[in-house]
Amino acid sequence: MDKEMMRERLDRLIWRVEEARIKRSEHHIVKIVAVSKYTDEAHIQTLYELGQRAFGESRVQMLQERIEKLESLPIEWHFIGRLQKNKINHLIRANPFLMHSLDSLELAEALQKRLADQNTQMACLLQINSAREATKAGVDPDEAEDIYLKIKETCPHISLRGVMTIGAHTDEKEAVKQSFETTYKIFEKLQKEGADICSMGMSGDFELAIACGSNMIRVGSALFQ
Ligand SMILES: *Cc1c(COP(=O)(O)O)cnc(C)c1O
Repeated sequence: MDKEMMRERLDRLIWRVEEARIKRSEHHIVKIVAVSKYTDEAHIQTLYELGQRAFGESRVQMLQERIEKLESLPIEWHFIGRLQKNKINHLIRANPFLMHSLDSLELAEALQKRLADQNTQMACLLQINSAREATKAGVDPDEAEDIYLKIKETCPHISLRGVMTIGAHTDEKEAVKQSFETTYKIFEKLQKEGADICSMGMSGDFELAIACGSNMIRVGSALFQ
């Protein structure tokens, strides 16, 4: 894909996001995280030159490699994938701007311990398994608020910033919408605890997610495939 084609993709995405966010509210701001897991460093650099600053990776090793290779660019890196406990130190070293996928109290406690050992902090979102799918990571929606508060209380090296979800895996729009609404309701309750990020919506469903209140979308294939 050449630069002109990427410009078109990015412009098209930005306009679709504009339309969706204005429908929600003129004051509603949505941040785009470009998920670069399908592409190479040259395309990341091209998109950066076109103005995109936030990029997301779902594997710790890939994140590390790309941070190294692109270190001359002030990219804001996000980690969006499942974190295995044996990769925690690698992620801490990568020092992402935001970790979207804190998916259990156990993981939070393990991360807290390593962060404390290294006397550093990490900004994280609590991942919610909003459609209660067996194949998906995340906490049960009914337990999300309690777990969020518990992490806030017991993990001072984790700065919780809000919630993340992956929409229900189905073609039924109603079910996807419901999973976003469930997550947004939890986000609303947590706002008084300082939550300010609701990360939901991917290439196939970001307009619906924004309609439901998302203020951060993670878009891969619409940009890179
Ligand atoms: C891959 C991925 C995305 C991007 O998905 P697309 O459908 O390609 O936009 C978003 N979020 C997570 C957690 C992902 O793993």
